[in-house]
Amino acid sequence: MPLLTDISDLPGGTVLILGGTAEGRALAAALADPIVPAFRVISSLAGRTREPLLPAGEVRIGGFGGVDGLVGYLRAERVDFLVDATHPFAEQISANASAASAATGLPLLVLRRPGWIEQSGDDWRRVPTLEAAAALLPRLGRRIFLTTGRQGIAAFADATECWFLARSVEPPTPPMPRHLEVLLDRGPFTVDGELRLLRDRRIDVLVSKDSGGADAKLVAARTHGIPVVLIDRPPPPTVAMTVGSVEAAMTWLRDGRARGGTAEAAR
Ligand code: NAP
Repeated sequence: MPLLTDISDLPGGTVLILGGTAEGRALAAALADPIVPAFRVISSLAGRTREPLLPAGEVRIGGFGGVDGLVGYLRAERVDFLVDATHPFAEQISANASAASAATGLPLLVLRRPGWIEQSGDDWRRVPTLEAAAALLPRLGRRIFLTTGRQGIAAFADATECWFLARSVEPPTPPMPRHLEVLLDRGPFTVDGELRLLRDRRIDVLVSKDSGGADAKLVAARTHGIPVVLIDRPPPPTVAMTVGSVEAAMTWLRDGRARGGTAEAAR
């Protein structure tokens, strides 16, 4: 339910959060807190999941229609601050946000959780792409726990020697591996639950994107001595400032607001 109901006389600016992540929801919740100087907050979701976790404040769902569509939206809603809090692997929308910021002069902040760091006891192979991960698999093991998300499963369609347990929020679509069991589930996951899953399904390799954030599956893999194939994240857009926490994003917004924002640039 929106906490900021009447935005007409608030002194703060309008923030568009490109979301679909826990960070996006956390930032929207922090900005909706009544003790925070008022912002109008709009969160944008791609509309990939049928029952998305909805952020606090206003929410819009669906693509904008490329860079031009995003620019049009920013102008129509008189957005003052653009925050790209999308998933580290959502490259297209991040590139669009960068281009829209350049076209409008709107300040853009990238809020991106830090990637994971290997610890003692881990057995990780870092690879640049999903395809490189698929190429490594038969040598590493045959019973694979695939946690790359629905859209990442197709890259493993030709790995016919392996059996896959793929976990995703929505069912995958073809192409898919021949030996595939799909587990429809959404986090957060516990270490105990992940330990049980790896043991019960006799998993011998975990495949994940380097998404960062909650790491129960990595802790479980370390505990069981299971190798992990980790897909490196693409670099963040270079033109924007990047922060790794909601607190840092709040500071950026407060500072921008103290400077009067740059709302005029987009209008
Ligand atoms: P993508 O490939 O970067 O984006 C493809 C298109 O989807 C964009 O050009 C845009 O369409 C639309 N879109 C993406 N995010 C949007 C948003 N937050 N609001 C409005 N439109 C959006 O994105 P993706 O990798 O498919 O991810 C889609 C969403 O799922 C993202 O919001 C992301 O945060 C979330 N997510 C992604 C992953 C992942 O592994 N990629 C994992 C968890 C969550 P238009 O060009 O028409 O504007």
